[in-house]
Amino acid sequence: MDLGLKGKVALVAAASQGLGHAVAEELAAEGASLILCARHDAALQETCAAISAAHGTPVLGLATDVADPAAVARLVAAGQARFGRIDILVTNAGGPPAGTFDTLSAEQWQAATQLLLTSVVELTRAVLPGMRERGWGRILNITSISVKQPVANLMLSNSLRAAVTGMARTLATEVAAQGITVNNILPGYTRTERVVGLAEATATREGISAAEATARWEAEIPMRRLGEPREFAALAAFLCSERASYITGTSVPVDGGWIRSLL
Ligand code: NAD
Repeated sequence: MDLGLKGKVALVAAASQGLGHAVAEELAAEGASLILCARHDAALQETCAAISAAHGTPVLGLATDVADPAAVARLVAAGQARFGRIDILVTNAGGPPAGTFDTLSAEQWQAATQLLLTSVVELTRAVLPGMRERGWGRILNITSISVKQPVANLMLSNSLRAAVTGMARTLATEVAAQGITVNNILPGYTRTERVVGLAEATATREGISAAEATARWEAEIPMRRLGEPREFAALAAFLCSERASYITGTSVPVDGGWIRSLL
């Protein structure tokens, strides 16, 4: 299937590693030019060089904290200056801290709101005018399975990703007639640096091995294994493609069957 991504320009946020990196790689493999960001420049530039060398596509990397609206505006302006436009936006950020209602401070709520919700609002605000002008756009938010089935001890993620989902569903209706789709993709337990780190942290906390911590998650997943980033990225590339032109306002999990709800 030709996804129709050749020559499109995609901005993928938080892409030096993990899910963002995998999505960037898949879009580059389909012929898209890339604008990538992450907080740490060295790791980001390494990722950009590797993707560009592997796929022969231009990749611009700009160290950016997506929680900072001024930095987001600079990122989008630099991307537009380099490529002339942004056709595809994939929003993403690092995960917020774990915690229950009682353990989380007002400052942590504020920081997580900036990281998970404000970043999506500001990235979207910056790219929408150009998408409207051209009558074509794809906005894809990386959220989490927690929007369909909250995960214990992840109060911030459960709450703020639901807010992103509400915003995306509302925006999808507002821009649908302008050729712009807005969707969310929901990772389940996927083998990234973050999940390996979480397994190690759980192991230390509970006096078990990291392998045992991972095995506990796998026991909850009908496929009995973690997902691989490239399995996630395949759907992301499709939802960003020309071929996904009649899909908008949805939230699609890639979770090996973890979510037990009917819809
Ligand atoms: P990861 O930690 O492996 O990678 C995160 C990336 O985001 C890195 O490139 C990092 O540099 C970048 N980043 C972090 N904070 C940033 C900021 N403020 N501004 C710009 N870049 C920033 O994480 P991942 O596993 O790829 O997860 C990506 C997102 O998906 C996270 O929000 C995570 O909570 C969510 N998620 C992941 C899983 C999973 O199993 N991997 C499951 C559900 C949800």
